[in-house]
Amino acid sequence: MTTTRFAPSPTGYIHVGNLRTALMNWLIARKAGGTFILRIDDTDPERSKEEYVDAIKRDLEWLGLTWDRVERQSERLDRYAQAADALRGMGRFYEAFETPTELDLKRKKQLNMGRPPVYDRAALSLSDEEKAALRAERGDGVWRFKLDHERIEWPDGILGDVSIDAASVSDPVLIRGDGQVLYTLASVVDDMEMGVTDVVRGSDHVTNTATQIQIIRALGGEPPRFAHHSLLTGPQGEALSKRLGTLALRDLREQGIEPMALLSLMARLGSADPVELRDRPEELAEGFDITRFGAAPTKFDVKDLFPLTARHLHSLPLEAVRDRITALGVPEDQAERFWTVTRENITTLNDLESWWRLCREGAEPVVAEEDRDFVAEAMTLLPPPPYDAETWGRWTGEVKEATGRKGKGLFMPLRLAVTGQARGPDMGALMPLLQVVKARG
Ligand code: GLU
Repeated sequence: MTTTRFAPSPTGYIHVGNLRTALMNWLIARKAGGTFILRIDDTDPERSKEEYVDAIKRDLEWLGLTWDRVERQSERLDRYAQAADALRGMGRFYEAFETPTELDLKRKKQLNMGRPPVYDRAALSLSDEEKAALRAERGDGVWRFKLDHERIEWPDGILGDVSIDAASVSDPVLIRGDGQVLYTLASVVDDMEMGVTDVVRGSDHVTNTATQIQIIRALGGEPPRFAHHSLLTGPQGEALSKRLGTLALRDLREQGIEPMALLSLMARLGSADPVELRDRPEELAEGFDITRFGAAPTKFDVKDLFPLTARHLHSLPLEAVRDRITALGVPEDQAERFWTVTRENITTLNDLESWWRLCREGAEPVVAEEDRDFVAEAMTLLPPPPYDAETWGRWTGEVKEATGRKGKGLFMPLRLAVTGQARGPDMGALMPLLQVVKARG
């Protein structure tokens, strides 16, 4: 039985980078008919906020990435304590008392000598008396997991065979001096107890994975299958990490990006497969294959989401957007016409508002110098609204007769005068929606 999880820390809003992780795990679970867990990594009581938990759920719901159950690490602290006791019992857990400044100094010294900045395990040689003295002076120490110095290897779904020398990694701190359980321990215990079979996460976690594999084995478990996706960069290959704050899902939603545009892009970006716009998240599971993704950094350009959003909207029936249209104040009996007329001419649903304003209030006319007299004459031939489906044909016919203009020279100045834009919906279909034409004077 396939089980995956998305494990955000509720310390901020989720962004496109997190979404990639969430989506890949979701797709693996859905493709296999398995279970997808939303795991809230909230062991840090200071930085975790309920408001972010709600926002994360709202973002996933907006996307249609449904979860089968929610787990919260803050409710499982006793399990982590048990695991810590087990590790202590087998001599794989030791208390260390260095202050951050001391550790920093050690690191600098090592780097100066051209050595990797790996924790030197000085705490392992402390006697019980020395520990008691340090505890009295500095309070409880941190608890580190004692790595076995051997190579840690796993077949990674994306990176291929990974091999890391445990001696090049510091013994990870699993419990802080104030007793707070850190992510590595909590994550390992959860993945084991929740039967997680597949873990996809960013390649910034590769070293964590190495240590977690040893901890899982120490606790008598079997590591899940791991895959580490590459990190996203901007369109020029620049690091996105600092800009990710501006790529929060809630901001994309506000900009009018459609969930299926975002999911369709993210389900394939960085893989060997082309982006295909799908109608429902489940459809993306069909061709999804984690091994098709590359290890190289993946370029992401938020601009790519707009044409995909537009394409998605062009195919939608009125029912899918009726609420949005009604909310603008479009009368019930005009909704169908309004959607048919506008849907090919919008990039996001936010654009509907300006089209409705144009219908209600009219547009500022755009009239070229050489068309001034022509437009003025044409406007005397246009009756006041309301209009019907015949109005445009009848009117342009009369204008043609009166002025002798035809083709583009006839239609374009009239479109510009009525809508203020050179491009837009079919004029015959638009006219019945117009309540005001400013160019009529
Ligand atoms: N809370 C961790 C993070 O957001 C989870 C990483 C993982 O998937 O194990 O980075």
